[in-house]
Amino acid sequence: MAPILEVRNLVKKYGDIVAVDGISFQIPRGVCFGLLGPNGAGKTTTVEIIEGVLAPTSGGIYYKGEKKTGRFKQEVGIQFQSTALFHLLSVGETLETFRNLYKDPPPIRKVISTCRIEDILERRNDKISGGQRQRLLLAIALVNDPDLVFLDEPTTGLDPQARRHLWAIVEDIRSQGKTVVLTTHYMEEAQKLCDEIVIMDEGKILLNGAPQALLREHCSGVAATLPKDGGWERIKRVMDENPALFERGNTFENHNSVEFHTRNVNGCMRALLDAGADLSGIALRSRNLEDLFLEKTGHRLRN
Ligand code: ATP
Repeated sequence: MAPILEVRNLVKKYGDIVAVDGISFQIPRGVCFGLLGPNGAGKTTTVEIIEGVLAPTSGGIYYKGEKKTGRFKQEVGIQFQSTALFHLLSVGETLETFRNLYKDPPPIRKVISTCRIEDILERRNDKISGGQRQRLLLAIALVNDPDLVFLDEPTTGLDPQARRHLWAIVEDIRSQGKTVVLTTHYMEEAQKLCDEIVIMDEGKILLNGAPQALLREHCSGVAATLPKDGGWERIKRVMDENPALFERGNTFENHNSVEFHTRNVNGCMRALLDAGADLSGIALRSRNLEDLFLEKTGHRLRN
């Protein structure tokens, strides 16, 4: 079966600026697909070309194996980063207004329960919280029961609880068989929700694949943080004398701790203990997508 979406050799230039530089990728049906990258990487430009908001300089977008037609607009849902809502309308009236833009829209009950907005239907748009607003925008993106849903940074600015609430809704949407295309700056979010990701920088694709497979291939091992009062001189000596134990370019020092990365955690710990370092304050974690991105590009995704 053809992928739900295919991007072929996409280029977008603004004068001398090459915002998207000849990228190609496919999105299989029914997955949550993440488009990641730092500010200015070309994510929004790519998504807006796919959505039909922007025209490409060259390259093509194929939906279900064919060039996009009018059917595309009827079958996709888009949650933009910011959408102006009428303050004086209620949440329920707003949903009805957007629903009426479609031919034969399905009943609205399912969207209301998927997006957990039953309790705020009577509430005016200017009287809802940031998390409730994001859930309403998600509901708007779903009113036509789309096969493919675009979510542009849906959790930016939300508190941790509202973010988790939205993650649960995104998982529900995916479990209904819909394909979700998510742009985000939050690596934890991408790792939790996405089956596949593309990491972009400077208009090009750096990596494409399943997060866990990419991590296994390019960024296995752990990141360790040690307080400097565990014997900083000793820790430094071990690092200088055993460079093979530590991942080059992945040591980050600040005034009271040092973070280092290693694929040989046992060897590392042994060397540090043998040198008399105190490891009682150590914190260990698996290396993650943010580490991978930093390693590949030299800058953090959330800069
Ligand atoms: P962010 O995470 O900040 O939203 P992004 O990855 O979505 O960034 P884009 O907004 O796609 O990045 O921008 C890619 C590049 O194209 C940037 O260098 C940006 O300055 C440039 N760009 C985007 N829109 C225009 C425009 N209308 N005119 C000129 N340059 C533009």
